Amino acid sequence: MTTNEQLFARAQAVIPGGVNSPVRAFRAVGGTPRFIARAEGQYIWDAEDKRYIDYIGSWGPMILGHGHPAVLEAVQKALREGFSFGAPTEREIELAEAIIAQVPSIEQVRLVSSGTEAGMSTLRLARGVTGRSKIIKFEGCYHGHADALLVKAGSGLATFGHPTSAGVPAEVVQHTLVLEYNNVEQLEETFAAQGDEIACVMLEAIAGNMNFVRASVPFVTKLRELCTKHGALLVFDEVMTGFRVALGGAQSVYAKLIPGFEPDMTVFGKVIGGGMPLAAFGGKKDVMKQLAPLGPVYQAGTLSGNPVATACGLATLAEITKPGFYEALAAKTQKMVQGIADAGREAGVPIVTDSEGGMFGFFFADALPQNYTAVMATDKERFNRFFHGMLDRGVYLAPAMYEAGFVSAAHTDEDLAATAQAALEALKAG
Ligand code: PLP
Repeated sequence: MTTNEQLFARAQAVIPGGVNSPVRAFRAVGGTPRFIARAEGQYIWDAEDKRYIDYIGSWGPMILGHGHPAVLEAVQKALREGFSFGAPTEREIELAEAIIAQVPSIEQVRLVSSGTEAGMSTLRLARGVTGRSKIIKFEGCYHGHADALLVKAGSGLATFGHPTSAGVPAEVVQHTLVLEYNNVEQLEETFAAQGDEIACVMLEAIAGNMNFVRASVPFVTKLRELCTKHGALLVFDEVMTGFRVALGGAQSVYAKLIPGFEPDMTVFGKVIGGGMPLAAFGGKKDVMKQLAPLGPVYQAGTLSGNPVATACGLATLAEITKPGFYEALAAKTQKMVQGIADAGREAGVPIVTDSEGGMFGFFFADALPQNYTAVMATDKERFNRFFHGMLDRGVYLAPAMYEAGFVSAAHTDEDLAATAQAALEALKAG
């Protein structure tokens, strides 16, 4: 049998770092990445045929678990009809209609192939529509790897950010302002000084790229107020949260807390493709009509709205829009994090947890962090030991403490009980 180690050695010879997306390399937690051979429902098996309960779900898309029969059938049928046409299809209309039906802030969407592409195109559209260059993002939020969004905070308030990657010229990020998450005062000061130059503000309202941190209600309220006042577009990046925390995404969670709340634009990915390369961005018609071929903002894609990907997304949406789906998913997710919290209490290890719909986070800390600095101050060494303890016991968590986790509809009570037991053993072991 080929081992994970052998595959990793072979991979490293031909693929930089042995992986096609950095976090898969286990650099944060150390050790050898598992090379996945197959998956079914809530389980994945590695090259050594070891089975894991999967709490990554391809980083979010697999909300039904792997290989759901209805999705498989739809994908197989679509494959027989054709892989790609580079011409419009009825399925694209159906998927656009299905998204719009669930998200009241959206009147039109454009389909693309990755969250990065959707975020990058949203940015261009926001700049094209407003005629402004500056954008605001928040430390700890990830919006894909477009140059202008790979930026970390500068030293001082609202200074221009610094590129977080080599190869991103300083001039490219000079229009990107990086502020502290949940800091209302900084937001107010920045808008007071530069509000009329800001094209858009991008936000992960439930931030899954610093584990799991919620934007506070006063923060989102202020953001909405300032964007409206200054004519900047408020963009919700729901690549992770869209159709994951609720059918209507994170914005529907905030709309319940802030009457009438809506972002101006939304970015989607992950769940809407059900595991196929598919993402989207959308907003009101007035904004979306500025896109080519109607308007001056250019955007295109050879595989955009791919017929197999849209079939997969549509079949996934058909399942998750069934009555009671999110109630059941949220209950499972709460039970999953409760199991980890209880294990922490029993083992005498401080752990705090949070979840919404099918997305969760847990921290080795006494209180839930409110921003990136606080996330980074939680116990990383403890997380890394816990990660490996869980992996050894057949539970596959995200291999970095700044990543959210995901429960699928396929997870059973037995899986959750086994996870809680593994957590207790792992924590007691150190
Ligand atoms: N936005 C958010 C919130 C994400 O979590 C991600 C990816 O994890 C992206 C954008 C980028 O999406 P993709 O990896 O499909 O390019």
